[in-house]
Amino acid sequence: MAEMIDRRVAVVTGSTRGIGRAIAHELAAAGMNVVVNSSSERSLPAAEEVAAALTQEFGVETLPVAANVAVEAEANALIDAAMEAFGRVDVLVNNAGITRDGLAARMSDEDFDAVIDINLKGTFHCCRAAAKPMMKQRWGRIINMSSVVGVYGNAGQINYAASKAGVIGMTKTIAKELAKRNVTANAVAPGFIATDMTDALSDSQKEAITSRIGCGRLGEPADIANLVRFLASDEASYITGQVICVDGGMSL
Ligand code: NAP
Repeated sequence: MAEMIDRRVAVVTGSTRGIGRAIAHELAAAGMNVVVNSSSERSLPAAEEVAAALTQEFGVETLPVAANVAVEAEANALIDAAMEAFGRVDVLVNNAGITRDGLAARMSDEDFDAVIDINLKGTFHCCRAAAKPMMKQRWGRIINMSSVVGVYGNAGQINYAASKAGVIGMTKTIAKELAKRNVTANAVAPGFIATDMTDALSDSQKEAITSRIGCGRLGEPADIANLVRFLASDEASYITGQVICVDGGMSL
C-alpha cells in the first residue's frame, strides 16, 4: 500500500498564470496539495498544465478546477471540489483579479461592476465558503491579494482601487471573526509585478514606474509567492489582519 502523507491543502484562485501560478508553485514546494483554478472551462487546460507540472516536480496531489469566483455557485463548487478530493481546506489564497482601467469621469458601470464582482465579491464568496471547514478544523490561513493601489489610490483605476481597498477591510474583518479558531487572514499588497496584467503597459510607462521603485526593478511573481508561503505556514500563526506591501520600496 502506498504511504499516506498527511498534507495540507491549498486552494489558489486564478492560478493558471502570473502571481497565482507562482503561489501554487511555492505552496506545492512546501509540500501542500494544491487546487489550481482557472476562470472558465476555456482556460482549464492551462490549470491542468500547471497542476500536472506541480505533481511531477513535487509529488503532491493537485486538482485543476474551472470556476469563476464572481459567481457564488462556482466559488462554492471550487471549495466543495477541494473538500471532496482532499477532505480539508487549510489555505485559501484569493488571488484571482482583473483590471478595467479608465478615468473616473468616463468609467462605465459595466467596467466598475466587472472589477468589483471578481476582485471583491469573488474574494468574499471564497472566504465565506472556506471559513466553515477552517473553523471546524480549527486551523486555517486566508491570504487575500490586495494591491498598493488599494492603499494609496491610482489615477485611472477607481474600480480596481476600490476593490483592493475593499479586500483590506474584508481581510481585517474576517481576521477578527476567525482569530479564536486559529484561522488567520492577511492581505498582501504587491506593487508592480511583471505578469500579463502589467505587460499591457508601454516601455515608457514601465520606465516611469521603475524610476519610482527603490529596488530599481519590477517585482517578480516569486517575490509575492515567497511571502504567501510564509503567511501560510505554522511560523506565521501570530500574524493576522495585516496588510503587507511587497513593492520594492515604491510606496516609501
Ligand atoms: P494575471 O497575470 O492577469 O492573471 C490573473 C489570474 O486570475 C489568471 O489565472 C486568471 O485566470 C485569473 N482570473 C481572472 N478572473 C477570474 C475569475 N473570475 N475567476 C477565477 N480566476 C480568475 O494577473 P496577476 O498580475 O498575476 O495578478 C494576480 C493578482 O495580484 C490579482 O488579484 C491582481 O489584482 C493582483 N496584483 C497584481 C499586480 C501586478 O503588478 N501584476 C499588482 C498588485 C496586485 P484565467 O487564465 O482563467 O483567465
